Amino acid sequence: MKPLVAIVGRPNVGKSTFFNRMIGERRAIVEDLPGTTRDRLYGDTDWNGRTFTLIDTGGLALGEGTPPGQVGLSGLSGDLMEHVRSQVQLAIEEADVIVFMVDVRTGITTADEEVAALLRRTNKPVILAANKADNDSQRQYAPEFYALGLGEPIDISALHGLGTGDLLDKIVESL
Ligand code: GDP
Ligand code: MG
Repeated sequence: MKPLVAIVGRPNVGKSTFFNRMIGERRAIVEDLPGTTRDRLYGDTDWNGRTFTLIDTGGLALGEGTPPGQVGLSGLSGDLMEHVRSQVQLAIEEADVIVFMVDVRTGITTADEEVAALLRRTNKPVILAANKADNDSQRQYAPEFYALGLGEPIDISALHGLGTGDLLDKIVESL
């Protein structure tokens, strides 16, 4: 079996944008585990001669079917935050490497802090990707995420394909 690399993080940080950039035209498989929501996409990709399976999490939970619920301290509805938490737990169990994505344009949110607290408890490699660093002025905010206690943030722009090579180098080194 190929190594599994899960992308986690709160909604809207750019997980799917990065996943789609990597998987592109190749077919993504929607996981259909009994008892779980169908919200994980799997796709194979390779970098520097290493093949691995990338997992995009949290996709379909944001669909129209999701009731808004009550917004909690995390800035997300309780249901949504619970969903993010369960995706992180699943990643901790099944993935070989976890990519935790955050957004330089919003800075650290309470939801990010919650996810970070879960991830600090695993011995698996966690790579912090500071996304939406589209230009130099945005990139300068990336070091702020050191405060999450998960090591060096790697600034990327999933949208423009900037810094993604460095992120992939780090992923492959951690496999
Ligand atoms: P997800 O909920 O984490 O999967 O986030 P998405 O991939 O759906 O992206 C959420 C929004 O952020 C979309 O409007 C994307 O176009 C935008 N986005 C994603 N990556 C970047 C980026 O690198 N730069 C900018 N400016 N926007 C981005
Ligand atoms: Mg998504």
